[in-house]
Amino acid sequence: MVHLNSAVRLLDRVAEQYGDKTAVSDEWGEITFKALQSKGKAVGTALAKIAPDGYMPAPVMVYLKKSISCLVCFMGAMYSANPYVPVAYDMPANRIQKIVDSLQGRGHIITDKKGMETLKIMNIPKTVSVHIYEELIETTVDEKLVEKTLSAVIDTDPIYIMFTSGSTGEPKGVTVPHRGVIDYAMWVRKTFGIDENSVLGNQAPFYFDNSIFDIYSCLLTGAKMIIIPETLFMFPLKLPEFVRDNDITTIFWVPTVMINVANSGVLSEIKMPRLKNVVFCGEVMPNTQLNIWRKAQPQCTYANLYGPTEISDVCTYYIVDRPFKDSDSLPIGKACENMRIIILNEKNEIAKTNEQGEICVVGTGVSLGYWNKPDITSKAFTQNPVNPYYEERIYRTGDLAYIDEEGLIIYIGRMDNQVKVKGNRIELGEIENAAMCVDGVKGACAVFDEKNQQIVMFIESQQEFKLRKLNLELKKYIPNYMLPSELIVMDKFPHTANDKIDRVTLKNSLK
Ligand code: AMP
Repeated sequence: MVHLNSAVRLLDRVAEQYGDKTAVSDEWGEITFKALQSKGKAVGTALAKIAPDGYMPAPVMVYLKKSISCLVCFMGAMYSANPYVPVAYDMPANRIQKIVDSLQGRGHIITDKKGMETLKIMNIPKTVSVHIYEELIETTVDEKLVEKTLSAVIDTDPIYIMFTSGSTGEPKGVTVPHRGVIDYAMWVRKTFGIDENSVLGNQAPFYFDNSIFDIYSCLLTGAKMIIIPETLFMFPLKLPEFVRDNDITTIFWVPTVMINVANSGVLSEIKMPRLKNVVFCGEVMPNTQLNIWRKAQPQCTYANLYGPTEISDVCTYYIVDRPFKDSDSLPIGKACENMRIIILNEKNEIAKTNEQGEICVVGTGVSLGYWNKPDITSKAFTQNPVNPYYEERIYRTGDLAYIDEEGLIIYIGRMDNQVKVKGNRIELGEIENAAMCVDGVKGACAVFDEKNQQIVMFIESQQEFKLRKLNLELKKYIPNYMLPSELIVMDKFPHTANDKIDRVTLKNSLK
């Protein structure tokens, strides 16, 4: 048996067994496992020929519209022993620049002609090679070079770097190892019975860790992945029809999408007989909408998954096995295979039953830290304080939880200024930093309005500001999903006794 030193070995295995089967489809076409492998190897050959300096891997930024082409590039990066960096195609140039800067003039960017135009106005160091996707896939595969390159990979090497929102305004590049992803895919296969007959309906953008569930469980088993057209998520009424008509068996969507579908009333009208697994993660799933799903599609297994990008997507799960009242907390359950959860209280000791503390994660999914950011890495990834015997790295999630009498983990909330809006992870500090770049803004404070599930921006300024105009400016620095929905302009912010912005007073003023 081939040693699984790289997750792309999963593609090699599945291409041998199910080569002519469709691996992925999108709104423009489909690709078989064999074609995904050969195109991936073409990209891999081209990248491997450009030897990185020394032996450190060179990140491959994939700056393309969400499509099959992105997956070809991810495979290509892996065939060349380099981690891939998925970025949103509609990301503001300023934010892409920050990501390029944090890669420190190393690596590759794969894009198309339109993306090339954006890159032209940016400051791309000469040491970064820029490639046009259509040209890369024409490269003649050099099997020997690919195998030689790939065989040098160790499963603790990085498979991808995923950039999440950072409180200082700098996106943080979470660097994840192959082993974390391979173990996760194996756990997904076992837990949800994924096999070659399964069809996964992908919602998660590729720059969001939830997509790892879809991509790698398909590569492990020969299941098909359908990239659901992004525009369809604006029409929740249409989604169940799409699931039914495409024989989708497993969906892994963010709760926001599940809520929109449930609230649209369509679930009582459309049956999805082949749908087997309804899985969600990324934010709290309310029981009201979960119950609507469960009543309408009783044949499905429902699962609440929990985990941050820093631990290769998911570290706990709860298979919903009983009805929950609207006011109950839906557990996030217990640890996945090869993962362990410890809840640490304020004294850094293991919290007792029902005592709240921070969720800390141990296991093969724990990532390698933040790319090129040793300071913040050493704060979040530390030695396990309750293990004095040997080196054991934990990831401190910044999430609060407790373990109930049944031994199930119950999520409480965040310890910091990180929020989730429609499933997107946002540091309020990143929005504030962007606002401070706008002319006339003296102070900025972004607040999450829980009632309306939206971001409210407080601005200190003597000038007049309108939300639309401010957002046009903010768009230069932050993605659309971070834009505030409400704006409040003040002459002067209230301050606390130690002269910090009084966030509590600002937030309370919303009620
Ligand atoms: P991300 O890195 O984008 O996957 O976001 C991770 C964060 O989302 C976690 O630290 C939690 O705060 C939140 N989160 C993820 N899954 C859940 C869940 N099932 N319930 C509540 N919050 C969740």
